[in-house]
Amino acid sequence: MSETEAEKQLRRARATAAGLEARAQTDVPLDQPLACIVTTVEASFDLVVVIAQLGDGLAGSYAKRPGMNVALIAGKDAPVRRRFTLAHELGHHYLGHGPRDDTSATLSDDANPDESSANRFAAEFIAPRQAVERFVGALDDDSPTLDLVCRVANHFAISPQAARIRLETAEIVTDHRQLGRLDGEIIDGQAKHCFERLGLEDRDDLCRLPAAKLPRLPAEARGSALADFIDGQISAEQLGAAIGRSREQVEDSLGRSVV
Ligand SMILES: [Zn+2]
Repeated sequence: MSETEAEKQLRRARATAAGLEARAQTDVPLDQPLACIVTTVEASFDLVVVIAQLGDGLAGSYAKRPGMNVALIAGKDAPVRRRFTLAHELGHHYLGHGPRDDTSATLSDDANPDESSANRFAAEFIAPRQAVERFVGALDDDSPTLDLVCRVANHFAISPQAARIRLETAEIVTDHRQLGRLDGEIIDGQAKHCFERLGLEDRDDLCRLPAAKLPRLPAEARGSALADFIDGQISAEQLGAAIGRSREQVEDSLGRSVV
């Protein structure tokens, strides 16, 4: 049975509240951006972060195994995407959704309650409303332009699309005509020039690791079956046996191209 509008609103509000609650468990003040989401997540939650070349089409995955919960993040994605996917997988973990694989389609599936909730959680975790309000409030010019979107995106190290959605959900930009114009400018690829013109550079964190330095494994995962699989030392069948999944399930979720 699908949700009523009232149920949807309540679920979204709860997911946002959970994102704020989770964020309050970290040592980063709620009105500040995260210096490195990988470091913060691993220090504050029972979740380890692996950034690797995953199977075709996979953006991320949340895996639950005895003694270790893992967020797998696709190395093919840009750093801004990796950060949001990690916050989304943390959402699945924190909200008790259970293991799952995410593609770019599931990450934007607002009709699926779990996916929509994980995104609400992620937005509040990465860019708490009060942090967005404080940052925008301190700008000399807070008019609803692409410059504002890019400054918010850069401050929180998220994509222009994510920043534009955050400005709407935080009720900083509410005019639908202005929001539509910003969407058009982002789709048109104008954000890149805007970042250059404003001299904005991306955050130097673990999500910035180049492909040549992947996979990124936390200390906890080293020596595990997952690490051996990623290093090519064991087969998908052997990893499946270790984690209680079939070879097909391993290959579907991690792909044959894992390095
Ligand atoms: Zn998801």
